[in-house]
Amino acid sequence: MCRAPVRVDMAARPGASPQSRLRGYSAVLQQCRNLWGDQRLAIRKMNTDAGALLLTVDPQTLATRLEPEACWTCVDTSDDAQASTRFMRAVHVPDKPAAARASFLRNAGLVHGGGEGSYITGDLCPAIRPLDRAFIDRLEKLGPKTPVALAISGLWLTRHAADFQYLRERAQIGALDITWVNHSFHHPFVPGRDFGRNFLLTPGVDAQAEILDTEKLLIARGETPSVFFRFPGLISDAALMDAVRRNHLVSLGADGWLVFAAPLRPGAILLVHPNGNEPAGLRLFSKMLDKNLLPRPFRAINEAP
Ligand SMILES: [Zn+2]
Repeated sequence: MCRAPVRVDMAARPGASPQSRLRGYSAVLQQCRNLWGDQRLAIRKMNTDAGALLLTVDPQTLATRLEPEACWTCVDTSDDAQASTRFMRAVHVPDKPAAARASFLRNAGLVHGGGEGSYITGDLCPAIRPLDRAFIDRLEKLGPKTPVALAISGLWLTRHAADFQYLRERAQIGALDITWVNHSFHHPFVPGRDFGRNFLLTPGVDAQAEILDTEKLLIARGETPSVFFRFPGLISDAALMDAVRRNHLVSLGADGWLVFAAPLRPGAILLVHPNGNEPAGLRLFSKMLDKNLLPRPFRAINEAP
């Protein structure tokens, strides 16, 4: 029981909403060791009908897993005590300074990955349209287990249950290797409004709830959140960057919306929208793929920091 990762999947169960079956979901930072001497950091605790669970991070590979708390012996730790780990270095990537007089940060955090190749990331912002399955097909044609990081908003997941299930199935059969990135729950956006009061900077937004509620929903639907958080619109400020760090997540930027990107360098973090709202970006992605203009190989986002 301690060797296999846990999948919660409460979607099929009758009664209360899936999230309400995850109780006491909270952010922690603990150093944990199991019977075999494996070391992990726990960043979340929760209770489920199946017992207490931890969301753990491998501090070197950044891989996350849901694990029974009973399998681990944990003690509280601190960012300073873990500062030398690859994970904590990624969490604490320094902010670039805000542009003069700007009330917001644009594309702060990890904006370029390490090494060769590139990192495909797709944002699932709330949308009316269905998932662009042609894009998913295209990724699958690149070979088995093509890595893709999908930044998912809670509202997209809530409103596209069948598309979400489809993505899970593609991953389960080994066609894709999906890393789930938190894209906030509500992803607020008012077209035309000043960025300093838009997206998560919209007055009244509860950043903590936006972060944790998306994770809870993903877990309740059988998936495991990664250590990455992508700001809606790539817009944040120093306080929001701190909130993401306090929750021990890595702010994930991009080398640019693909449609505007300059020639891509190795390590590029590519950004497209498979939520049906940016067909031009997906067409461009396809065209660049055909012309071999995207740096290869495509790599899992855990390798980027
Ligand atoms: Zn978005």
